[in-house]
Amino acid sequence: MLKFDVAIVGSGPSGASAALKLAKAGFSTVVIEKATLPRYKVCGGGFVYRGRKNMSFDISEVVEKEFHTVDIYLGKKLHFRTEREQPIISMIMRDSFDHLIIQKAKEFGITLLEGTEVKELVFNDNGTTSIITTGEEVAAKCIIAADGAYSPIAKMAGWKEETRTMIPALEYEVEVSDEEYAKFSNEVRFDIDAVPAGYAWNFPKKNHLSIGVGVFQKKKLNLHELCQNYIEKLGIKDIKSISKHGFQIPVSPRTDGFVKRNVFLIGDAAGFADPITAEGISNAIYSGNLVAEAIIEAALDLKKTESLYLSKINEKLVPELLTSLKLSKWFYKHKTVRNVLLKKYGQRFSEAMADIFMGDRSFPANITEKVQEKVKELVF
Ligand SMILES: Cc1cc2nc3c(=O)[nH]c(=O)nc-3n(C[C@H](O)[C@H](O)[C@H](O)COP(=O)(O)OP(=O)(O)OC[C@H]3O[C@@H](n4cnc5c(N)ncnc54)[C@H](O)[C@@H]3O)c2cc1C
Repeated sequence: MLKFDVAIVGSGPSGASAALKLAKAGFSTVVIEKATLPRYKVCGGGFVYRGRKNMSFDISEVVEKEFHTVDIYLGKKLHFRTEREQPIISMIMRDSFDHLIIQKAKEFGITLLEGTEVKELVFNDNGTTSIITTGEEVAAKCIIAADGAYSPIAKMAGWKEETRTMIPALEYEVEVSDEEYAKFSNEVRFDIDAVPAGYAWNFPKKNHLSIGVGVFQKKKLNLHELCQNYIEKLGIKDIKSISKHGFQIPVSPRTDGFVKRNVFLIGDAAGFADPITAEGISNAIYSGNLVAEAIIEAALDLKKTESLYLSKINEKLVPELLTSLKLSKWFYKHKTVRNVLLKKYGQRFSEAMADIFMGDRSFPANITEKVQEKVKELVF
């Protein structure tokens, strides 16, 4: 049996970031990953600046494109563009991005067990946990569940399934001719209402376009048809190949806690993607760093680690997600009123979103009152 201070399940941005910080602090850390790295991850690969500016090392070698402008479209008539000095969104492919963080962590001495799936957790009387995998058995004092949207680890440790809101999303990796690429690769665009209760996007990469759709309310919809229609609506014609992928995104924080026994949830396993944009990479990294800081500060004392981790995520992350959740419910449900408001305040809204992406501001805590005020101004 292999023994470690900390076992992290999942090598996405949340797990890899936690591993890097723990390894730097000298904790014996293992990352257990079921895939062989580098692995494709279904994702738009739009990495917002609030995440990038807090990285502890330079990631430019895996950045495919940088966008200092973001374009938001509402139907055919409304278009809002925001611009910032630093790149608002950096385009990455998740295989190389995630792998880069893991490689950094390996430089600081983590053990990586790739191609190894966790199958069962056995909680021992002495406080340790045995992790049964498809490879070697692992023992650790502390377990970090960084295993993404479906989080089998959370299920094994007793979390309930229905404690996050999951939304379906599609990602098409679209290869087009050089002429078509020249036309469509110069702007990163979000099209609100291109799909019911959601949005569609075009995120240009170095050699292709990442095009996708996400739907934020429970509706029976044919997402593939919606994505295909969006590609046609954009006018993209000369397509060489399309690789189609679908996955779920958890867009609300768990309601039954983030720590049980010695298991800590981070990233998508915790439900930390933003409820209005479904942007999850920056919070995955942020929560990975917070859990690592808690373990380091508590010197592996589990009770202290739990209270430190909870106070760290409750300081900013969880309250911001709950505010964004309120806005998201309103935004995707009240389309008519929202669109009237966007006609009047669309540029202001886009600037606010750009500031949030940059990490220069957060959603106002009294978001519902603010929206109601604006609606009243329109009516009276
Ligand atoms: C279609 C789509 C588009 C998106 N676009 C964006 C975007 O443009 N920008 C953005 O910021 N976010 C986007 N997201 C969200 C983002 O992808 C996630 O929020 C992010 O990947 C969460 O990172 P994570 O580290 O928590 O989990 P993940 O990146 O999902 O990593 C989890 C890892 O755990 C491993 N694992 C799972 N189970 C086991 C097991 N039993 N044993 C061992 N290993 C296991 C998996 O193989 C995986 O490598 C998108 C999501 C989708 C679905």
